[in-house]
Amino acid sequence: MLPLLNLVSDKLRALPLVVLYITDGCNSRCVTCDIWKLPRRNMSMELVDQLAAEFPALGVKQVILSGGEAMQHPRWQEIAAKFRAVGTKVMLLTNGLFLKKQAQQVIDFVDALTVSLDGGTAQTYQAIRGVDAFDVILEGVSLIAAGGVPITTRTTVQRRNFRELPLIIDAAKAAGVGKISFLAVDTSNHEAFGPRFNDGSSIPLISVPDYALTADDLPAFAAILERLERDYAADFASGRMAESPQKLRRLYDYFAAPFEQATFVPPRCNAPHISTVIEVDGTIRPCFFLPASGKLGAEGLKAGINAAEAVDLRRAYRSGERSECARCVCPLYRGPRSLLGIS
Ligand code: SF4
Ligand code: SF4
Repeated sequence: MLPLLNLVSDKLRALPLVVLYITDGCNSRCVTCDIWKLPRRNMSMELVDQLAAEFPALGVKQVILSGGEAMQHPRWQEIAAKFRAVGTKVMLLTNGLFLKKQAQQVIDFVDALTVSLDGGTAQTYQAIRGVDAFDVILEGVSLIAAGGVPITTRTTVQRRNFRELPLIIDAAKAAGVGKISFLAVDTSNHEAFGPRFNDGSSIPLISVPDYALTADDLPAFAAILERLERDYAADFASGRMAESPQKLRRLYDYFAAPFEQATFVPPRCNAPHISTVIEVDGTIRPCFFLPASGKLGAEGLKAGINAAEAVDLRRAYRSGERSECARCVCPLYRGPRSLLGIS
């Protein structure tokens, strides 16, 4: 019942989901991200131990190991084991570059895997991710799928890859992927990547809007979405396509809205009421995009997520006062039935 109380208050009684940036290191070279250009920090094992000790009392059901590239933390397996030992399921969010090399470890230590797949061909993948790894990632995915770990591919849809959505689906299916997900490249918010290392400067290190679709791209994108709905009807029906056709059409609205060719309706989201993001050094955020609300200290995680700044940010986004929410590409919503584990 505790998670339900979160939905009627801006103070959190429970924390169903935690996203942990366990390292800033990354072996990818994505054109839309600056993390790989900056010095690496790894989450300390003391911080991991502190979190693992507090998770049961907060009812943390799932932890997402992220980064940077989570598999670049030299002790990611040990971290996963510590969280599993206290009853928390471990989801690994990865660029996939180490999956083939460490397939058995993923099978042994991880409950579910989400892999970025930003192209349907080796050329497009490399153009976006900066490394030649399309084939090796899919080989790793196949090995892990065969080992029984549920896998989701996630594609950040952008100008360079939107024509390859059918190829991406085909490649993911051939590798045994259970869920295929698409979200839009973030053209409006830089919080989730570079600026958190940018010494407070509001000037992003990269110009993300260059990756948005242009007005000229929109008819082709609409045609691709129609094709997906027609050619992959069985995959939509089975849930293998993570988003419904209606939800995918929101991607079109997102890219078309700046050209006044569609209206983008802000998403439904209660991420800050059911989850938190914790960075490498213990910095706490209500979600990927809202500002930091404090830092994990000796008083513990429950106090950290209920610090005055955090409660105020929750009240503000819930009241529609945060501009970040208007064009958010990665909202999360869980209703009461979902929080109670009723499907
Ligand atoms: S987007 Fe992710 S995989 Fe790509 S460089 Fe940034 S942290 Fe690494
Ligand atoms: S809509 Fe996006 S920015 Fe707003 S609270 Fe949800 S995840 Fe955060």
